[in-house]
Amino acid sequence: MENQLAISVRGLRKAYGDNVAVGGLDLEVARGEVFALLGPNGAGKTTTVEILEGFRQRDAGEVSVLGVDPARPSQAWRNRVGIVLQGTGEFDDLTVAEVVHHFAGFYAAPEDPDKVIARVGLTEKARARTHSLSGGQKRRLDVALGIVGQPELLFLDEPTTGFDPEARREFWDLIRDLAAAGTTIVLTTHYLDEAEALADRVGVITGGRLVEVSTPDRLGDRHEALATVSWRTPEGAVERWESATPTALVAELAARYGGEVPGLTVTRPTLEDVYLRMIGQR
Ligand code: ATP
Repeated sequence: MENQLAISVRGLRKAYGDNVAVGGLDLEVARGEVFALLGPNGAGKTTTVEILEGFRQRDAGEVSVLGVDPARPSQAWRNRVGIVLQGTGEFDDLTVAEVVHHFAGFYAAPEDPDKVIARVGLTEKARARTHSLSGGQKRRLDVALGIVGQPELLFLDEPTTGFDPEARREFWDLIRDLAAAGTTIVLTTHYLDEAEALADRVGVITGGRLVEVSTPDRLGDRHEALATVSWRTPEGAVERWESATPTALVAELAARYGGEVPGLTVTRPTLEDVYLRMIGQR
């Protein structure tokens, strides 16, 4: 089982003075999996991920990333791990192409830099200086630098913050391509739709602990949640019922109204609904 795991964490702990940022966290991510870490501001996501990346030292716990303890990272291990931090993206007077070519030189088996630039949708900006890029374009450059080494495991910290809707969709396609090619991906995000669109499993961190790990459709027993059926009565009021058998209720309403039910909607809790309940915001 161990070698099927890209990441294995047991009892991870990290405190900053009296502030326990991560308080006994267990986590397993399989090879080839797309795993999203969700959690409110200050929950401990970045601390956890940066320990996994080898950028922060832990106080306690066992951590294995691609079979290596990231507290003692080797150059060979660094070559296998790609990292997209929250906003780097400015390299003075260098152009996009120069920066990506330069970073490619750090890796043993880099992807063709021009292909990487095309994959992140920056071909038209290849000759632009990085300081002239928009926020979303800088983020795409960050992603290019994270993948140019053809990593086995890619960490993405809030990768689409600042993207316009079209750029997000393109980015999601890119992540799906990488996942289809076998790259393991760990991302943190505050966008629930992003987690739902990309992740095989999501983990919710609050107060430095992983409170649930599940597929997006089953988080918080969402798949068993009651459906809410609402419609408009002849008097114009909105009637709202919760039901485990919404189809039967809709059939009964259709019979009652003799056809179309005015203003009919049938909804189930979204990932955002169950997430907000889980972190105590609803
Ligand atoms: P966000 O969603 O806002 O990025 P997060 O889940 O990534 O939050 P962390 O950045 O891991 O949360 O922070 C967890 C806790 O640890 C917070 O209380 C934070 O203030 C604290 N913390 C994080 N980094 C440091 C640091 N370098 N020194 C002191 N305290 C820190």
